[in-house]
Amino acid sequence: MPRPRLLVLSLGGTITMTASAGGGIMPTLGAAELVAAVPGLVEVAEIEARSPLKVGSASLTLENIAEVAADINAAFAQGFDGAVVVQGTDTIEETAFALDLLVRDARPVVVVGAMRGAQQPGADGPANLLAAALVATNADARGLGTLVVMNDEIHAARFVRKAHTALTSAFVSDTAGPLGLVAEGRVRIFARVARPSLPALAAGMGALPPVALLKIAMGDDGRLLRAVPGLGFAGLVIEGAGAGHVPAAMADIVGEVAAGMPVVIASRTLAGPVFERTYAYPGSEIDLLARGALSAGLLTGVKARLLLTLALASGWNRDAVAGALSAYD
Ligand code: ASP
Repeated sequence: MPRPRLLVLSLGGTITMTASAGGGIMPTLGAAELVAAVPGLVEVAEIEARSPLKVGSASLTLENIAEVAADINAAFAQGFDGAVVVQGTDTIEETAFALDLLVRDARPVVVVGAMRGAQQPGADGPANLLAAALVATNADARGLGTLVVMNDEIHAARFVRKAHTALTSAFVSDTAGPLGLVAEGRVRIFARVARPSLPALAAGMGALPPVALLKIAMGDDGRLLRAVPGLGFAGLVIEGAGAGHVPAAMADIVGEVAAGMPVVIASRTLAGPVFERTYAYPGSEIDLLARGALSAGLLTGVKARLLLTLALASGWNRDAVAGALSAYD
């Protein structure tokens, strides 16, 4: 039986890192070396390995990910059955969500990394890469959008989040839990999430509109918020406290900023929906929504920022942005 065709694209991250002369680890390995280091992987799929980048994932940009999405869409047009993107774990929750928005094919896209470097004892990269390849070539994983496979767990892009700096179990899916598991080489999908149907998003190949992300802390006096419009941003996501709240002293400024650009309210708790109709005090969710802010729904601030960026790049109006955000609520 012919093996499924799998594209493996490596962007860097701990999984590719080896000791550097000056101490510490640096991205050095490419996709072909990673694939060659995993016993059994060649039996899973016929792999085309490419290494467009070798960076720490905090240096990835949405423009980079738009190019990766274009490569994957082209590979699917050529008949590939799945794709694995190898990268650093620090920003996996963002890149996976961006790929979920930009690759709408039913064939699986799996993003994977490692918490331990390639030369560290107990390196988790090879096992994670094998599990990712098994998921990316499994028919049951079709239609679930982009997935993150880490520590043998399968997470949906919209829910997954890195929740620990060190543990191999660092990844959680708040709200939903993981969708499935890889054990004994078998992929089990326990839950399926519907992908919201969205108008087409076009990232293009140029620079994307800059969208700011601002986290609210107790006693914030609003000076950063007031500065946002003057800094050239095209939109703003506010990670508010609790169910989407800011200090009363900032409420007027939120309204002023929202009059000139889309402002989206997310929650810094990172789990649970932004409220719509509970609290009525100045700076509450009812107050901010009445002043023109939009709700991020269940999306975290970093994910809402990506959706808003791509929506602005695609020329969506305010209603279209609000509709897309509410599709994740
Ligand atoms: N700690 C990171 C990783 O897991 C570094 C990065 O995100 O590139 O790969």
